[in-house]
Amino acid sequence: MNGFQSFAMVDWSGGNDTGPRPRKDAIWIAVVRAGRADSPRYLRNRAQAEEVLRDLITEERAAGRRLLIGFDFPFGYPVGFAQAVTGKKDPLALWAWLADRVEDAPKANNRFDLAGQINAQFSGNGPFWGNALARDIANLPRTKGDYQNPFPDRRACEKAARGTFTCWQLAGAGSVGGQVLMGLPVLARLRRSFEGAVSVWPFEPPDRDVAFVEIWPSLLNDQVRRMPGIRDAAQVHLMARALANLAPTDLAQMLAQHAPEEGWIFGLGHEATLQNAAADLRPPPLTNDCFALPGGVDWTPVDDALARLRDRLRPVVGVEATPLGGASGRVLAEDLVAVRSNPPLPNTAVDGYGFAGALVEGPHRLPLIEGRAAAGLKFNGTVPPGHAIRVLTGAALPDGVDTVILEEDVTLGLGEIAFLGPVKVGANTRAAGEDIVAGQVALPRGRTVAPADLALASAVGVGELQVFRPLRVAVLSTGDELLEAGAEAQPGQIFDANRPMLLEIVRRWAFEPVDMGRVADDRTALRKRLDRAATCADVILTSGGASAGDEDHVSALLRETGSLQSWRIALKPGRPLALGMWQGVPVFGLPGNPVAALVCALVFGRPALSLMAGAGWAEPTGFDIPAAFAKRKKAGRREYLRARVRDGRAEVFKSEGSGRISGLSWAEGLVEITDAQQDIAPGDLVRFIPFGSFGI
Ligand code: AMP
Ligand code: MG
Repeated sequence: MNGFQSFAMVDWSGGNDTGPRPRKDAIWIAVVRAGRADSPRYLRNRAQAEEVLRDLITEERAAGRRLLIGFDFPFGYPVGFAQAVTGKKDPLALWAWLADRVEDAPKANNRFDLAGQINAQFSGNGPFWGNALARDIANLPRTKGDYQNPFPDRRACEKAARGTFTCWQLAGAGSVGGQVLMGLPVLARLRRSFEGAVSVWPFEPPDRDVAFVEIWPSLLNDQVRRMPGIRDAAQVHLMARALANLAPTDLAQMLAQHAPEEGWIFGLGHEATLQNAAADLRPPPLTNDCFALPGGVDWTPVDDALARLRDRLRPVVGVEATPLGGASGRVLAEDLVAVRSNPPLPNTAVDGYGFAGALVEGPHRLPLIEGRAAAGLKFNGTVPPGHAIRVLTGAALPDGVDTVILEEDVTLGLGEIAFLGPVKVGANTRAAGEDIVAGQVALPRGRTVAPADLALASAVGVGELQVFRPLRVAVLSTGDELLEAGAEAQPGQIFDANRPMLLEIVRRWAFEPVDMGRVADDRTALRKRLDRAATCADVILTSGGASAGDEDHVSALLRETGSLQSWRIALKPGRPLALGMWQGVPVFGLPGNPVAALVCALVFGRPALSLMAGAGWAEPTGFDIPAAFAKRKKAGRREYLRARVRDGRAEVFKSEGSGRISGLSWAEGLVEITDAQQDIAPGDLVRFIPFGSFGI
């Protein structure tokens, strides 16, 4: 099983069609497909809902996405009921039994009559009760007066979930009994018409294309209450978002519930995890055309390709709060506004003596008052004019003091000090807010928090920062020839060099590396691995298989999705580069050659990933220095050479071979030769970009 890519949540209704105008107590459905949420839809009756669901299942299966559908009514009855009615313990037998008997037209249905018929098999006074019709129905008590129920009143999960209604109650506000009777036949029909493709949880393992689960939106009540609009619409919207956001391991844990007869409410017992997932507000995924390059160009210049990326990409990660201590390397999702001024009060910058006003040239003697002002210890009295007080660095200036003289500049006598003027007003003091004033933006949104920023945030009174969730970057190597480092190699095999390098680059960029291992040149295996990567990462970096050859499966699979952009960039080293979207997640198909993989990661990957992480476009800083080498190249192509600086000149590696990995280690940065440059002689200025400027 490789997770679900689409989620649909349905708020069901047991009642009749009440017209085309969206209202509560009708059917609402919210869908999140491959990370993209549609607005909740109002469905006026069950027939329409059945049709919409059938279409949705068909579409999602055709798109190769696994679909999880939640319905807000019980999938099973309390223990013993299915057996008593159908002769089988299997709740799905009861589904079929009901489907054969329930009659449902948009304006009328037989739920109360059917309940009466079932009751007749027992005492005639239960298990069902409640009648919303004007006419009486034989064997269906309107109230619980003489009620007799041979079965438990509630399922085990209903005992665990506070506020649930029993499925025996057919009328009255909040009752769910009618929804079950009218809902299960619809689900039974859907399941039958997609024979073998739908599993009903928890009665069947959720390992097919589609899974039905029972949900109870009240698990998200606190959040639903804060949403505007119709409650039922908000409930399904939030529930769909929560399920779509769940980490695969959390989803798997919630699905690992054993309740073979009665069924279970999805997420019950995991409320906090579910609520966190609902609160995780992520931007919608990028569109399929976000890597399209200008048409009609044979070889796209590097700068044009970069401009496109910069224009089309945007942050793809949600936001969370983090305590100051854990914020280094994280990206601010909001401007950091000073809560308090720095410094908060006027204070002394030195150890010395404080007094008021300017003092002219010549000798002065000031009597000292009792006491002193020190950091963290405000002096509470007032210093009278013509007097001085002992002050220590960082102390708030006492009332009556605006000027400080250094202790080295005075002679201390008995109860007085002597010194020479002039002394300017305000000397040796710091004004309140001279660094930052409360309310001012101390650090802008998009800033990657540096160690000094922790000092600043703390100084201005901020202990918790709003940051983007770390960009999760999956790294995957492709190729039949690849082996794990240190393994026993057969002839024809080589070790995977790109993956350890790319994982470490991602880590240095302060993103979250997700190691997706190696995949052979096998389309099915690669498809599965990409599916898995798309559920646990925000971006996928692959290397190898990105050309247009028979064994270039990365490009082939991206082509199948219709999103492949094969980049022909006027760049050396660089070709080929395949970009596209997989299940809503952008894929950067880097070249297999390690040198080209690194250069493309630095030149295209770094700014693009930085933008997607919320940190804005990251452009490396280079500087112009004389070349220690000579080179000729074609005009119209950008080249990056492995380089280092010695004696103030840029040296380049002895070979430009793109498989020469040792040159990457030899180098301390890259020399960037512009598209226009053709002839470089020793001493000509060339642009050197240290690896540090690329963030590695
Ligand atoms: P490809 O783009 O798959 O045709 O690969 C181009 C070249 O890069 C071939 O010589 C591959 O063997 C080599 N290559 C691909 N992936 C890696 C890797 N992860 N580590 C080292 N070399 C690789
Ligand atoms: Mg290959």
